[in-house]
Amino acid sequence: MSEPKTYPGAPVELPLRLVKLEPTPVEGCPSCTELAKVRDWARAGNDQTTVIDCNVLMARHPNGH
Ligand SMILES: [Zn+2]
Repeated sequence: MSEPKTYPGAPVELPLRLVKLEPTPVEGCPSCTELAKVRDWARAGNDQTTVIDCNVLMARHPNGH
């Protein structure tokens, strides 16, 4: 029995250009986890400045933060 891998509802259309610019939190890193959380809140509040700040800090992960 093979079921097609589909999900209910329409696929979420993300602005790909924005998504591509966003770093992803590194698993197991408390700082990245925190930044991802703050970024979500900022996005929900339409606070683009904080979103960008979080992205910048998250992108610095390899150098430590
Ligand atoms: Zn990190």
